[in-house]
Amino acid sequence: MPSSMFSLAGKATVVTGGGRGIGRGIALAFADAGADVAVLARTQAEIEAVAAEIKAKGRKAVAIATDVTKPQDIAKAVKRTTEELGRLDIWVNNAGGEFGLVASSPEMGYAVGTLQREEAEWDRVVAVNLKGCFLCCQAAGRVMAERGGGAIINISSMAAVTNAPGYAHYSAAKAGVMSLTLTLAAEWAPHDIRVNCILPGCITTPKVNWENEMLPPDIRQAFLAGVPLKRWGLPQDIAAAAVFLVSEASSYITGSCLEVAGGLGMHV
Ligand code: NAD
Repeated sequence: MPSSMFSLAGKATVVTGGGRGIGRGIALAFADAGADVAVLARTQAEIEAVAAEIKAKGRKAVAIATDVTKPQDIAKAVKRTTEELGRLDIWVNNAGGEFGLVASSPEMGYAVGTLQREEAEWDRVVAVNLKGCFLCCQAAGRVMAERGGGAIINISSMAAVTNAPGYAHYSAAKAGVMSLTLTLAAEWAPHDIRVNCILPGCITTPKVNWENEMLPPDIRQAFLAGVPLKRWGLPQDIAAAAVFLVSEASSYITGSCLEVAGGLGMHV
């Protein structure tokens, strides 16, 4: 198979939540594969820094301040991307996370305490992780349908397919992202738009650092013991899968949910 099947040369791509962590890793990998990249997130300084890194690789980049829960922000981002990059071929819905703990009920709750939140926390987390993903898919899908095809990746989580005590809102939203992926893949296949999903495991990033402050040592060790490959993941692990899933090499793959998790929660 020619390595050109993994090339993204000439493609215009969008990565939401691209200012740091996994999103930054995907944005830089897309640029390395030859793509131009629009980097979307709310924090201007972060997205500008990533756009500068992409330009330094010789690719076009644009930093667009966007809140993915706001349809008007998304519409502006689509407009600027098509104007400044000339087209729109690939969209990655990575913005998300952003959770505090919730207790599902006071009697049965897990980690009830100062971090406990109620309805507002549920709404906020579902809005960022699920509604934002849907709104962005819609906006990107419209443009891709008009131009005759494209590829979308939605970033879910292994929390969607395992139990996640204390994170009922997050895991339910990420399961929704998987379900959304399957439906959109079927609905949009006639437009040659492929829609796939990645389920990251424990991926260490500057903000989500599995190696130190995020968890008490005993819980951290228990998590790592459940990872057969015996290491935390890195943004580049997710980025490599993302390049594959939007490239020509995966042209017969749609509606799939790919676990990139070192074997965490292995099942048939
Ligand atoms: P992160 O917090 O470092 O990055 C999240 C990015 O999303 C940031 O750029 C943030 O600004 C952006 N974002 C958040 N809310 C937004 C909004 N409303 N509008 C626009 N941008 C917004 O987190 P990360 O670890 O890099 O996670 C990236 C994705 O991977 C998330 O969807 C997360 O749920 C998922 N994930 C991460 C892990 C992990 O272990 N790190 C595991 C499973 C899934």
